[in-house]
Amino acid sequence: MQKRNTVLILGIIAFAIMIIAQVIIIRGGWKQVDEMLYLRYRSLSQEANTSLRGSRSMVFDTVNYLLDYYTESVVRELPKISDDKELENKKEEIFEYFSTVLNKEQDLSQYLSEYFENQGAENEFSPRIIVINLEILDADTLVIYRDPSFRGRRSSSDFEGLAHSLKGSTSTILVNRFRIIGNYFTLNFNYYIDLTFKRSTIFRELSASFGMSIFSIIIVVMIFLYTYRNLMEEKRLSNLKTDFINNMTHELKTPLATITVAGKTLEMERIRTDESKILDTAKLIGKQSIHLNQLINMILEISMWERTEFELDKKKVDIEEIMNDIVTSFRTGCGDCASLTEKYTFNGAKADIDLVYFTTLINNLLSNAVKYSEKEPVINIEGVADNNNISIKITDNGIGIIRSDQKHVFDKFYRATSGNIHKYKGLGLGLYYVKKIATAHGGDVTVNSKPGKGSIFTVTIPY
Ligand code: ADP
Repeated sequence: MQKRNTVLILGIIAFAIMIIAQVIIIRGGWKQVDEMLYLRYRSLSQEANTSLRGSRSMVFDTVNYLLDYYTESVVRELPKISDDKELENKKEEIFEYFSTVLNKEQDLSQYLSEYFENQGAENEFSPRIIVINLEILDADTLVIYRDPSFRGRRSSSDFEGLAHSLKGSTSTILVNRFRIIGNYFTLNFNYYIDLTFKRSTIFRELSASFGMSIFSIIIVVMIFLYTYRNLMEEKRLSNLKTDFINNMTHELKTPLATITVAGKTLEMERIRTDESKILDTAKLIGKQSIHLNQLINMILEISMWERTEFELDKKKVDIEEIMNDIVTSFRTGCGDCASLTEKYTFNGAKADIDLVYFTTLINNLLSNAVKYSEKEPVINIEGVADNNNISIKITDNGIGIIRSDQKHVFDKFYRATSGNIHKYKGLGLGLYYVKKIATAHGGDVTVNSKPGKGSIFTVTIPY
């Protein structure tokens, strides 16, 4: 349990470290590509700035015209305004108008877009225009808006080949600061571009790294789960082995103890003079020796199967005849321990089977049906032959097997966990043996059971 938890915790820690490492690597890659894209678009913007020099007025021609036209009427209206509040409202209105015209009518975005495209770059940026100074010029200068960053008319004029980023951002590039001087106004504004495509471009550039990261994480998780499962399986087998050794000790000790007691009995003078008692004791010794022998043979045989391929000595036999023989001798052998009914429709089918192993298989199923029963055992044996298989179904009215145990009953050394396990003696090898024999014949065995109601074991063998 402790080992399992340690492995689990170490696995989780290793997994967390790996995820953190991957995140760091990806973030590093992300930053690098981000920086690269930023530098590329900054220098493209700069180039665009330079090439714009000649045609600068063109991109703001419409803006200039519309604003001149508008301000002409503004300067006529302004002297009529005496109220401060009204003046503030007017200023706001003027500012709004300027912003709208500037954003809607400028051709710079179009120019940049074409420039970028001609340079083989992406052109899905979004322009951002920020007015930093707006003055209406009449007899007096009326400041409509002035941003604190505005550094005076001279310094913020014309082309400076800027292409700076906005407050250290790598997504927004300041292409240039512009000044438009109209008949009745001076307008200073900054033109930025937002690189909206950047995120998807970075994703695309890094898709291989992302893929590799996810792939390596999946591989590590799979390896971890596989190792953990193996560890669990090892633990389960080791538990089964311990149980087996305990059971085997118990199973072997019982006949051995009987033989020892019988030996001691024979030493008694009172017994030695009584012939019938000697005979009874000899019979008991014989019976227990056979039982002991059977147990040892079973264990030896199973360990031999583990090492070599299972070899069958197959013969073609009439399956109904064989079943009748096996069931009859089982009935006699156990002294009519159960009410056994048989129903066969084999239609004279003949199958290739190893008689000795096949008998063991049926005997194991029948003796389990008797053993795992708390009332008078009623066992039903049905046999059918279809085109390809013979199928034998053994139904009992025993204690049944819970669902979680059903998957494991054919495992080596497995004994069901439910009920009082010590009440029913066994080594957990009988059904393992049954499965081995059935599969060695090219067939299979399955179980269907309801706890408290009984079990159905079905053996199929091709013929
Ligand atoms: P063993 O009988 O020696 O324990 P088996 O391999 O024959 O080993 O059976 C494995 C387990 O399956 C048993 O411990 C028992 O719990 C369960 N089992 C087998 N046959 C039956 C049956 N007919 N009815 C109920 N439980 C059964």
